[in-house]
Amino acid sequence: MEEQKSRRVRLVLFPCPLQGHINPMLQLASILYSKGFSITIIHPRFISPNSYNYPHFTFIPIHDGISGIQASISDVLPLLSLLNVNCAVPLQDCLVRLLSDTNSAGGGEEEEPIACLISDAIMHFTQGVADSLKLPRLALRTSSIESFLAFAAFPVLRQKGYLPISDSQLETPVKELPPLRMKDLPVFNGHDQETLMGLNQLLISMVDQVKASSGLILNTFDYLEQSSLAALAQEFPIPVFTIGPFHKLFPASSSSLLSQDHSCIAWLDTQAPRSVIYISFGSIASMDESEFVEMAWGLAKSKCPFLWVVRSGLVQDSEQAEPVWPDGFLEMISGKGCIVKWAPQQDVLAHPAVGGFWSHNGWNSTLESICEGVPMLCRPNFGDQMVNARYVSHVWKVGLHLENRLERGEIERNIRRLMVEKEGEEMRERVMALKEKAEVCVRKGGCSNKHLGDLIAQIRGVSLQTRLEYK
Ligand code: UDP
Repeated sequence: MEEQKSRRVRLVLFPCPLQGHINPMLQLASILYSKGFSITIIHPRFISPNSYNYPHFTFIPIHDGISGIQASISDVLPLLSLLNVNCAVPLQDCLVRLLSDTNSAGGGEEEEPIACLISDAIMHFTQGVADSLKLPRLALRTSSIESFLAFAAFPVLRQKGYLPISDSQLETPVKELPPLRMKDLPVFNGHDQETLMGLNQLLISMVDQVKASSGLILNTFDYLEQSSLAALAQEFPIPVFTIGPFHKLFPASSSSLLSQDHSCIAWLDTQAPRSVIYISFGSIASMDESEFVEMAWGLAKSKCPFLWVVRSGLVQDSEQAEPVWPDGFLEMISGKGCIVKWAPQQDVLAHPAVGGFWSHNGWNSTLESICEGVPMLCRPNFGDQMVNARYVSHVWKVGLHLENRLERGEIERNIRRLMVEKEGEEMRERVMALKEKAEVCVRKGGCSNKHLGDLIAQIRGVSLQTRLEYK
């Protein structure tokens, strides 16, 4: 009876419509649903999560004013800025409608008022919308604490003249953010001055609006980022809920925007334990054609079996829908390599044949690798990936950082270091220890589990308050 009553406490979630942000938001939604909340997901129309995988959620698309070209996710910065402007009025209208529907519903079946809005931190406009409706907002940040702190430090770093980073300073330590060097700062290269100013504003707004929120939810666990927690508490004097890794509680496959090719699992079944290196650079990162060619030959020369995700858009400026393989490459790797356009990544990382992950170090990929005890080759592309790669290689020491321009001989050497040499074995031992810690954290009595309890208590508290306000 109690369960039924509490299930109707309603939460509205607003994700950022990129793969690496949708996955954790829908995992969080599933976690909260399992704790008895009802879930409504409002999302920009141009990307729809697979609602049929979540029959128990209500999905509401809103107008986003995004054209086909603007929706090109290879250039995320302008897209994020546009969404923050275009979605404000539609989100407000939608919430007003939901709030008034709830208030006017009569009889015993009426829904609880909306307890709060949970939105992606980068969708900073949502704080203003929530404030105008007197609705509490919780922010979900989908990256590591350390990279969030690095973004938060940008105004100070800019003031001190660190940014933009000059080539001669790349190796200089950033004393405000050890162990980062200038080249590990979460910058976005290759944009014009106007876009970079826009980025600056986006980051400032994100940080300010998180500070104005009722709390911050993070997909991480205390043990992993212990050293950053105190700094976070100082910089963000709001309740913080580190309740990850989310995917240990709910897998992400059902929120994949691309169709996952499961045939690679049958191929992995034919490979020896820990022999395969899995390669994926997530949903946005890209490389130029010459690096792609070096990568292909480096993999072939390593003689290590590999599973490579070559998604459309991975090779920059390629006019072709299919990648152009170097002459003789496909013949040479026959039987040794499996290539797919998109993989069921969590199942791949959990497969006993996988012994290493060559990753761009998006935060989800990094956490997923840690949680399966798989050491990494790190090749970050932009933004928070740079910070994550530094932590993987220099703090947790569970990966090797490929820092130079990709070259086949160096790739071959590093794959062998990771996959067959003692160094790789030691990294595997360290990452297995982290995997165990992650498992303990999400178990009953573990720190993430406790913080989840605190989060639920806070939501129920505000629910009570909003119920009184809307009476
Ligand atoms: N992913 C997947 N199949 C792939 C590659 C990635 O399902 O072939 C998933 C992966 O499990 C992760 C997400 O896509 O949950 C990528 O998020 P991440 O933060 O690692 O990178 P982003 O795509 O945001 O750069």
